[in-house]
Amino acid sequence: MKEDCIFCKIIVGEIPTHFTYEDELLVAFPDIKPVTPGHTLLIPKEHYQWFYEVPDAISDTWFSAAKQLAQRLKAEQSADYVRLSIIGKDVPHAHMHLIPQKLSGKNLGV
Ligand SMILES: [Zn+2]
Repeated sequence: MKEDCIFCKIIVGEIPTHFTYEDELLVAFPDIKPVTPGHTLLIPKEHYQWFYEVPDAISDTWFSAAKQLAQRLKAEQSADYVRLSIIGKDVPHAHMHLIPQKLSGKNLGV
């Protein structure tokens, strides 16, 4: 855990958050400023700043979980597809954005 990292605080429960997915290595929770309904963040429990620093054993699971979560969000939000992006600049704890989208790009707020 990195002391000044907001995501690490979420993981250890210092900032109460409802996890929409959790396993041994990962947690998911709603983005505090959703771009569209259902916008979810999926993060490794261990602190790494950039996705390419995450060990393969975690990143393989991370991507598999993202695929499953995307299918769930697609169904829950009646979305046409789910966008995946990894930026990592706003909060320096590697995180995937899963963003349900409509093909028209309008009716889900984009
Ligand atoms: Zn962190």
